[in-house]
Amino acid sequence: MARCSKCGQDAVTYIRYNGSHLCAEHFKEYVERRVKKELRDQVDLKDTKRIAVAISGGKDSLAALLLVHDVLAERRDVEISAITVDEGIAGYRPEALEKAQRLCREIDVPHHTISFENELDLTMDEVSGLLGERTPCAYCGVFRRRCMNKVARDIGADVLATGHNLDDMAQAVLMNFTRGDVERLARLGPHVKVQPGLVPRIHPLRQVPEKEAYLYAMLRGIDFSDAVCPYWEAALRNEYRDIIDSMEARSPGTKFSILASYDAIRPLLREKYPQSNLALCSCGEPSPSGRCMACALLDEIKKRKG
Ligand code: SF4
Repeated sequence: MARCSKCGQDAVTYIRYNGSHLCAEHFKEYVERRVKKELRDQVDLKDTKRIAVAISGGKDSLAALLLVHDVLAERRDVEISAITVDEGIAGYRPEALEKAQRLCREIDVPHHTISFENELDLTMDEVSGLLGERTPCAYCGVFRRRCMNKVARDIGADVLATGHNLDDMAQAVLMNFTRGDVERLARLGPHVKVQPGLVPRIHPLRQVPEKEAYLYAMLRGIDFSDAVCPYWEAALRNEYRDIIDSMEARSPGTKFSILASYDAIRPLLREKYPQSNLALCSCGEPSPSGRCMACALLDEIKKRKG
């Protein structure tokens, strides 16, 4: 068995991109250090009184909740709450929702749920049956962002933390580059500008690779759901995941390099594509055009229903 490069104890993992073996304690510390730094960089903790964490019940978001909770444990003036969106996906969401509720109970964090059914009068299972070749994730993502923003705003959250990890970030960067969607690239989180009605999103795990988030959740004994959404296979993102994973296998550190390159050019992108002031859609959500994407997609679904 390999020994921890820091203390000589039995190692639980080998970090290929920096050549270190780490024991359980040093590995957890290694993850926590990055998350603390990200929280400090992304949030002005002096002015932040309420942090909402979007939790799905999976490893990343539950690890993010626990980490945010631990990092801010001493800060009695900062309130943490959690939000789960129930998309209405049978065989997937109920188990994850239960795990999300359980962790919130254990660490005494208020938990809010919002469902597509109550909020939008549809479920993803219904929507997927109407889409033909189109991927459900494109609709689900838009509806989920709207629901999360609504609850976060209603509970007065200053920021909304999500469980996006390094793999998610690298995929989003590459996806927008290859599509030529530079404007969207400029608007990727973490958000810096506070817009009326839009709770800025932050990503405390953005420097933590997915495999490390998984190991961290296991080592912390988090009871997370590893159920896979039945629509996951159709997600366009999977192509980018495969490409980046094979690049990472050949050249460890690629995911960090993609994110670091993005971070280096982000100020220029934001200068070129400044965020316009948002107008309120008739549903109450902010949007650049005054008509939000969720309402446009809901209209499309209504037409498909006939
Ligand atoms: Fe929604 Fe797609 Fe995620 Fe399933 S895989 S929960 S449809 S975004």
